[in-house]
Amino acid sequence: MARTAVPRRLGDRLRWRAAELVERRAESEAAWTLVLDVPGWPGHLPGQHLDLRLTAEDGYSTQRSYSLASAPDGDRIELTVQRVEDGEVSPYLTDDLAVGDAVEIRGPVGGWFVWRPEQTEPVLLVAGGSGLVPLMAMVRARAAAGSRAPFRLLYSVRTPGDRFYAAELDRGEPGLDTTHLYTRSAPDGGTRPAGRLQARDLAEWGWPADFEPTCYVCGPTGFVETAAGLLVALGHSPDRIRTERFGPSGG
Ligand SMILES: Cc1cc2nc3c(=O)[nH]c(=O)nc-3n(C[C@H](O)[C@H](O)[C@H](O)COP(=O)(O)OP(=O)(O)OC[C@H]3O[C@@H](n4cnc5c(N)ncnc54)[C@H](O)[C@@H]3O)c2cc1C
Repeated sequence: MARTAVPRRLGDRLRWRAAELVERRAESEAAWTLVLDVPGWPGHLPGQHLDLRLTAEDGYSTQRSYSLASAPDGDRIELTVQRVEDGEVSPYLTDDLAVGDAVEIRGPVGGWFVWRPEQTEPVLLVAGGSGLVPLMAMVRARAAAGSRAPFRLLYSVRTPGDRFYAAELDRGEPGLDTTHLYTRSAPDGGTRPAGRLQARDLAEWGWPADFEPTCYVCGPTGFVETAAGLLVALGHSPDRIRTERFGPSGG
């Protein structure tokens, strides 16, 4: 049977390749950044993700998607994985995978939920929990490119101890405004009491719709649907709202 012709670049992205864990860093009590060395990694755009496959000795294999956390940097890539307590894959990655161990990955995947350094318009990033990961790749790529596109980040997270990349975000970046929205417990003297994302948060700390920002929203499905709905209600055009859903529900 004739094989379907696949352009070489696409074929390269569909190919599983070996990745070796070279470093791991704790991001919170339940999340780790995994630094992987991937010989021949074709590069990626901030916002893209990859597929990661684990194969057991008996041949059973399973795969999940993870966003790229790092700006493009040769053969090195970074993922940040939040442990889902009853999960099959994430507890293995956060608790068991050791430096020197190998996994298989394939990608990068995705062409819509990306930010390109040539974009100059204002950008609004709205993250729910681990949905920060691909948005952080955008923040890092902006800095690496010396871009002056104004960025605003609204990061909804349960408690201060659950924050990812806390030191890096606290250090800040010219042209990046970050607001933390705590859903379970907020620090004393914070800007806002604990609670879920609301329209007034987006109105106060996001961009006005008439600035025509590109909005990137990422997190659990329920969070993304709520945030996107609120943005539309505030007058943002749906074609400037890009979304990525990580999981079934929750937040
Ligand atoms: C495009 C994309 C990018 C992603 N990027 C990241 C990332 O950068 N970092 C990251 O930590 N995760 C990311 N995820 C989620 C990831 O793919 C897995 O779903 C997650 O790690 C859970 O896998 P698991 O095998 O541990 O849980 P499973 O065994 O698949 O599920 C166990 C239980 O947890 C529930 N569950 C599954 N996923 C989630 C979730 N995300 N949140 C809450 N409950 C869940 C299931 O309904 C089930 O009840 C991404 C998902 C997608 C689709």
